[in-house]
Amino acid sequence: MGRYAMELVSRKNARELELMRVAGRIVAETLVMVQKLVKPGVTLLELDQAAERHIRSRGALPTFKGYRGFPATLCTSVNEQVVHGIPSKRALVEGDIISIDCGATFEGYVGDSAITVPVGTVSPEVTRLLEVTEGSLLQGIAACVPGNRLHDVSNAIQRYVEPHGFGIVREYCGHGVGRRLHEAPQIPNFGEAGTGPRLKAGWCLALEPMVNLGTHEVVTLSDGWTVVTLDRRPSAHFEHSVAVTDDGPEILTDRRGLV
Ligand code: MG
Ligand code: MG
Repeated sequence: MGRYAMELVSRKNARELELMRVAGRIVAETLVMVQKLVKPGVTLLELDQAAERHIRSRGALPTFKGYRGFPATLCTSVNEQVVHGIPSKRALVEGDIISIDCGATFEGYVGDSAITVPVGTVSPEVTRLLEVTEGSLLQGIAACVPGNRLHDVSNAIQRYVEPHGFGIVREYCGHGVGRRLHEAPQIPNFGEAGTGPRLKAGWCLALEPMVNLGTHEVVTLSDGWTVVTLDRRPSAHFEHSVAVTDDGPEILTDRRGLV
């Protein structure tokens, strides 16, 4: 977990949390809107363009666009694609699943969230994959309370997924979020309970389990971005930005109540 090991985890003050709430809300609205567009025949580029329009209309910026050279507003990852798929003219077909990852920056603060959506009817095992992945995210969020240790969050996700026999991706992690898309700490989706630093009120964390129907192993395609499962079986990805508060976890990218 070396990448951010030497970096302090920033604690957001009340004003910063307010801006994080706005950024998170814009991301949540965008995902709700894009999810409604998902149907057979729609192209990934059409989803991306709709997302960018919405984010800019709310006075925010698409965080991913230009991030390390990423060319688009959304990451759109279809079926065996795990994360970081680049929107293209590919049209969705009945039975696909699509992971939509979205970031928005408002007044310098970032919201980051992802959902995986079925296109029409998908198989029972894929439906289960989506349910279990989202369920594991909620378990991780519930562990985001001051005093818990970081890997209590990781372990809550792992414990929920593993009985189902699905593969938890190891190469990619959750992360702190705030003035930058990726801040300390890294948050693996597996780990030993009772280890890691203690969570503090004011931490903002993006939890994002990536769960594969088959093997946990992944590879990156030659475009340098798209991560796919080694066995090319489907993968799901759900993510929320969450604030750790003395009153418990606050989901900054909550979609509940949005239409
Ligand atoms: Mg994301
Ligand atoms: Mg993220």
